[in-house]
Amino acid sequence: MIDNNNLVMCCFCGESTNFDLAVQIEIKPSLISEETQVVYCHSKYIDKVLHKNVPRHPDLISNE
Ligand SMILES: [Zn+2]
Repeated sequence: MIDNNNLVMCCFCGESTNFDLAVQIEIKPSLISEETQVVYCHSKYIDKVLHKNVPRHPDLISNE
């Protein structure tokens, strides 16, 4: 059963995903930025958007 209170929006496809399964992306707009923005996505999209030569975090691979 899906708990609707535990959903976040995937920043790539706009669909809802469960917070516990989502990848959290922390964005720091510049090196001098004091604050960050956090967005969420389905883990499969990280693999699609990153160049193939960018190493993947082990947890991203095991999440598939
Ligand atoms: Zn998505």
